[in-house]
Amino acid sequence: MDKSWQFGAACQGLAADIFYPQSDEECDAAKTVCASCPVRTPCLEYAITVREKDGVWGGANEKERRRIIRQRRRAAAKQRALVSVS
Ligand code: SF4
Repeated sequence: MDKSWQFGAACQGLAADIFYPQSDEECDAAKTVCASCPVRTPCLEYAITVREKDGVWGGANEKERRRIIRQRRRAAAKQRALVSVS
């Protein structure tokens, strides 16, 4: 999978442990960095695609990424249902 987007990452050179907090409540520092990162979108899409289990990617922690995946699945199912009745 292409990871060339990482070259523009705002987290380059920062301590990795910021992005792997012990709890969801400790994600704020990472999310602050991600908020101004120019590669936030491809970073998040990468983490969702590979089902990254740990850490903050693209400004989202694991729980938030799972929620995005569920929302996308529901939207895709709804779209398929709409196509099948048309
Ligand atoms: S969005 Fe966050 S984790 Fe992803 S590359 Fe940017 S700073 Fe790093």
